[in-house]
Amino acid sequence: MRTQIAAANWKMNLTFQQGEKLLDDILAAEINLKDHQKTIFAVPYPYLTMTRSEVAEEKNYYAAAQNCYHKKSGAYTGEVSVEMLHSLNINYCVVGHSERREYFLETNAILADKVNLCLESFIIPIFCCGEALAIREAGTQNEFVTIQLQESLFQLTAEQIKGIVIAYEPIWAIGTGKTATTAQAQEMHAHLRSVIASKYGVAIANQVPILYGGSVKANNAKELFNCPDVDGGLVGGASLVAADFIEIIRSLK
Ligand code: PEP
Repeated sequence: MRTQIAAANWKMNLTFQQGEKLLDDILAAEINLKDHQKTIFAVPYPYLTMTRSEVAEEKNYYAAAQNCYHKKSGAYTGEVSVEMLHSLNINYCVVGHSERREYFLETNAILADKVNLCLESFIIPIFCCGEALAIREAGTQNEFVTIQLQESLFQLTAEQIKGIVIAYEPIWAIGTGKTATTAQAQEMHAHLRSVIASKYGVAIANQVPILYGGSVKANNAKELFNCPDVDGGLVGGASLVAADFIEIIRSLK
C-alpha cells in the first residue's frame, strides 16, 4: 500500500509552550502507526528541535519545516536554508504552500529550486499545488495544476519523484470551512497521478503519496482519506486541536 500521511501545518500559530503541550497531548493518545502510515508536524522554525525530540522515540512520527529558502547559503538575512534543516535532522519540508505563493510571491520556478535543494539534502519536499476559486469556476483547474507540476517537478528523475509527497490544496478550501467533495478530491488526485504517469509511467506515479488539504476536519477526514487516490491530508486549523488531530490520524487508511 502507498504511504498514508497525516500532516499538521501549524502555520504561524501557537507559542512554544502551547506547541509542546499540543504535541504531548497528541502523543499521549499512543496511536501506533502501521508501517505504511506517517504523521508529520510542520511547525515554525524555532520549534523544530523540540518537535524532533518529542517524536524521536515514536515510530513514523516526524517534524517538518513549513518552508525553506531557494538558495543554498549566503547573504539572505532572516532566511533558513535546506542545509540548516538537514543539520537539525529534519526529514520533511513543506514547499509551495498557497500562502507562500500568494504573500511571498513564490513562483513555480522558485519552487523547483526549493524542491531540488531539498532532495540534494535528503529532505523530502511536501509539494503543494492547487487552484484559486476563479480557476475552479472557469473549469480550468486541471490545466492549472498540470502546469504547477510541470514547472516545479518535471526536472526530477524518476527515482527522485518517487520519493516526494504532493499535497493538493484547493485555495478556496483552505481555512474556509469549505471542503472539496470526495468526488472533487478524487477526480483531481487521479488527474495529478495521471500527469505524473504521463512523464514517469504509471508504476512510478502509483508510488507518490498525494495528500488532500483544505478544511480537513475530524468529521470528514475518513471519507476523504477513503478515496482511492487520496493518501491522507495536510491539515491546518484542525491540527491545532489535539482531539481533532488525533481523530484525523486515526482516519488514515
Ligand atoms: C493548510 O494550511 O494547508 C490547510 C489546508 O489549512 P486548513 O486545514 O485550515 O484549511
